[in-house]
Amino acid sequence: MFNKDTRPPFSGLKGRSPKELFHTLPTPCYILDESALQKNGQILAKVAQRTGCKILLAQKAFSNYNLYPSLSPYLAGTEASGLYEARLGAEEMPGKEVHVFCGAYREDEFSELLCYADHIVFNSPRQLERFGWLAKNAGKSIGLRINPECSTQEGHDIYDPCAPGSRLGTTRAQWDGQMTPRLVEMLDGIHFHTLCEQDADALELTLKAVENLFGDILPRMKWLNLGGGHHITRPGYDVPKLEQCICATKEKWGVQIYLEPGEACALNAGYLATRVLDIVQNGQTRIAVLDASAACHMPDVIEMPYQPPLYGAGAANELPYPFHLGGPTCLSGDIIGEYSFRVPLQEGDLLLFGDMAIYTTCKNNTFNGMPLPSIFAMRADNDLQCLKKFEYSDFKSRLGG
Ligand SMILES: *Cc1c(COP(=O)(O)O)cnc(C)c1O
Repeated sequence: MFNKDTRPPFSGLKGRSPKELFHTLPTPCYILDESALQKNGQILAKVAQRTGCKILLAQKAFSNYNLYPSLSPYLAGTEASGLYEARLGAEEMPGKEVHVFCGAYREDEFSELLCYADHIVFNSPRQLERFGWLAKNAGKSIGLRINPECSTQEGHDIYDPCAPGSRLGTTRAQWDGQMTPRLVEMLDGIHFHTLCEQDADALELTLKAVENLFGDILPRMKWLNLGGGHHITRPGYDVPKLEQCICATKEKWGVQIYLEPGEACALNAGYLATRVLDIVQNGQTRIAVLDASAACHMPDVIEMPYQPPLYGAGAANELPYPFHLGGPTCLSGDIIGEYSFRVPLQEGDLLLFGDMAIYTTCKNNTFNGMPLPSIFAMRADNDLQCLKKFEYSDFKSRLGG
């Protein structure tokens, strides 16, 4: 039905078609690609090796811990957004570093967090004042997230922590107003996270802003964490420039550099398989209704928004047969995108979306009572392994008991 599609994100299929590989699987289901994860890991490990930086998996993008053993040889540890992710990192990547940044920590969780985390990064001077001494006494490495007020992305305001009025990170003005010498004394490192799917030129710009605003602070620090959003494993990413940035920064201030990419760890390392349930035509528009939903199973398609890659399909009017693809939910906007095909889609056709390992399994939901897709791993030897199946009780148990 489709021409062979060997471009990323489908190069991991090694020229085999979705039908050959996945026709026995129940849909919808996610398939995590172990070889692709390992390839990403190798790219990241080389950066770490050549620069001396340490690279962490930001678990909010990818937290399918069954695959952590495939990534962990290449990484220094995990990064968490709060207590649960910190615990997951400690449990599932044992012996590696656990870093945590949270917009605001809670009194009733903080002592448990200290059991799991090695580095604790605070968002504000007040949070540092409130919890810093507890962390310090427990032997933790303490950081403050700064806001370098340097927006390097356009059009994605919800992913720009440097946007005006942002709550994320401490600006220099806030620092000057609130950071007493005692608080500065407590710090081991500085953290910033301002990028999203960006190349090394955006990092270079941001590092200049950091130097301009916080250049007087950095020589007193042991480490500098450059956050995530570095699209390192994307074909064409400027790895040499990244390495120059890391080495120059490390030299200049004598700091250990950390990176905590989420996307880059699991980029193009998963698929979402789905089948066509129905075809409807409204005027000129033909719509295939799938058993997968954008709203439930790939929420970033709507939230970001973006159109995910689909195996063998063309852009809206590239090929002879255009179709809108939508989910079975009640939401009019549950549209995955407009694609085109060589032959008309039919009921029962198997479709495969690419780059579905990140911000999917860890972000999906059961809106409309939609079942959660099963999760499979495609192991490096091509063996398909079911990691998790969901059922009615997974839907019901979150709503009461
Ligand atoms: C989201 C986030 C990351 C990971 O970002 P990616 O875009 O997935 O690389 C890392 N650190 C922090 C603090 C984040 O909020």
